[in-house]
Amino acid sequence: MSPEGESSQTLSSSFAAQCSLDPKADSEVPSPPSKGKPSWSESDPGDPFLLLPWFAMEEVLLHLTDLLTLHHLCRASPAVADYLNNTPGIFPMVFERIVEHHNYVYDEEAEEYVQSPNFEAGVNSDTSIFYRMLVYLWWREESAANNVPADENPMPDTFYHEAMWSVNHSSTGWLDVAWLGRIKLPRSTPPKILRHLVTLAVRIRADAHAFFHETIALCKSCPIEWISDWDIKKAYWPKGGPRPRGVRSCTPESADYPPTWLEEQRLEQAFLKPYLFSVLRRVVCEKGLLKTTPPTLNPGLPSVTQRLLEEYPNTLQQLKDDSLLDFWRPFADESPENDANGNRRPRTIEPMEQLETVLTWMEDNKAKASKRRKQRVEFTRCCPNFGDLSPEQVKHGSFSLQFLFQPGCTFAQNCTAVPHSGVQAAGLRGEFHKFGVAFWDNERMMHLGLTTRRMDRWTDQKQLAFRWSGMLLLSKKKGIKISGRKKGWRFRSRTAPIP
Ligand SMILES: [Zn+2]
Repeated sequence: MSPEGESSQTLSSSFAAQCSLDPKADSEVPSPPSKGKPSWSESDPGDPFLLLPWFAMEEVLLHLTDLLTLHHLCRASPAVADYLNNTPGIFPMVFERIVEHHNYVYDEEAEEYVQSPNFEAGVNSDTSIFYRMLVYLWWREESAANNVPADENPMPDTFYHEAMWSVNHSSTGWLDVAWLGRIKLPRSTPPKILRHLVTLAVRIRADAHAFFHETIALCKSCPIEWISDWDIKKAYWPKGGPRPRGVRSCTPESADYPPTWLEEQRLEQAFLKPYLFSVLRRVVCEKGLLKTTPPTLNPGLPSVTQRLLEEYPNTLQQLKDDSLLDFWRPFADESPENDANGNRRPRTIEPMEQLETVLTWMEDNKAKASKRRKQRVEFTRCCPNFGDLSPEQVKHGSFSLQFLFQPGCTFAQNCTAVPHSGVQAAGLRGEFHKFGVAFWDNERMMHLGLTTRRMDRWTDQKQLAFRWSGMLLLSKKKGIKISGRKKGWRFRSRTAPIP
C-alpha cells in the first residue's frame, strides 16, 4: 500500500527492454528456426492444416480456448498463420471468441440470470479492455506512421474523450462509461497488429507464470511455525522478549497447485498495466497523435466527463510525468458504496499492491534478464489447466477479481496485533511482495498457513503475526534483497512501435 500523495514515482529506462515490442524482443518468445523451414507464407507439405477446407479451418480456430493455444498453433502450422493473416475479418473474430467472457447465464428453470458456472472461459472484462485498447493505440500509431487510413479504428481524436481517459478505472467499479476497449475489434483490424497482440499476451502469460512458480517456491521454502491457541492466551511474545518458538511447523506442499483463473487474471492485469501505460504515453505525449486540450467545465458536458475532470484532474499530467503508479491508482476504486452498516467501504487497495508487487519483481529480475528470456519457453507450456476454484468462489462468480477472496492480501499492512513483530512495518515497506501474497486466493493463503478462517479474532491475528514474521526471518536468513518503495521506482517506459 502506498500512502496517498506520495511523490510521483516514475517508470523507467531499464524497463524499456522488458516492455519493448520490437521484432528483436519478439524473439524472446520461442520461434521456429528460420533455416530449413519454410516461412508462414510458403506451403509446407507436412502441415496437416493445409489439407483442411476453409470451413473446417474456421471451425478449429473458432473453438480455441485461449491466446496461448492460438499462438502455438500459428507457430506450428504455417497454413493456420497464413489463413489468419490473409482472410479478411477472421483474426478479429477469433480473438473476440477467445476473450469472450460471461459473468452471468440465463437459467431457464429459475427464469433468471445466474452466475455462470463456467466463467473460467475467456478473460476478465478489464483484461479484454486492456487488450483492445492496445490494439487501437497501435493501429492509430501505425496508420499515422504509414499514412494509411484506418476508418474503422474507433479511437477518438482527443485524449479527453471519456472512452479514452477512463482506462485507468476498473470496469467493475462505480464508473459506467463506454470504455474504448469495450468496442469489439472491427473486421478491418490489421492481422499484423493482432499477431503483435497475441505475442504480447504470450509474453505476459509467461511472466505471470514465472512469477507464480518463483514466488510459490519461495513461500514453500518457508516452514510456517504454529503456536497453539492456549499458548497465545497464556504468555505470548512480550514486548522486548524473544520471539517465541513455534510448537510445530508445516511445509505447505498443498499450496502448490496451478494458478486459478482469478489468480492468473490478477497477474496478467498487473503485468499489462505498465505496457499499456507506456504505449498510451508514447501515442499521446511523445507523438501527440491525440488532442490534449481539456474541455472547460460547463453544464453541457456529459456528466461522466464532468465528474472525471473534477475528481481526476491530473491524469494527463501523470502520463506526461511517467508516474505509472499514480496513473493507475484510481483503478483501485472498486467499491465506493456503503456496507450493510452504512459505513463507507474502505478503498480496495489490492490492485495497487499487485502492481507494486510485479514492479518489484521486474526490478529484481533485471539482473537475471537473460535467464528469464530462456525460461520464457518453459512458462509458455506449464500449467495446461487452471487450479480448481472452491464452491464459494464458483458461487460468487467472476464479477470482481479482488476483495472478497483476499482478506490476507493486505494482512501485513493492517497488522496491529503484535507491533514489535515488525510485520506491519515490513508490510508497509513492501517486504512481502516477493512472496506474491497480493495475488493469491484465500484458499491458497490458507494452504500456505498465511490466513485463518477467523481473521477477525484477536488470537488469530496474533497467531498470524507470528507466522508472517517467520517469512521475514527467512528473508533475512537467505539474504533476500529488499528493494521496493523505499527507493522509489526507477523505471522509464519506452516501448517500441510496430514497425
Ligand atoms: Zn505455470
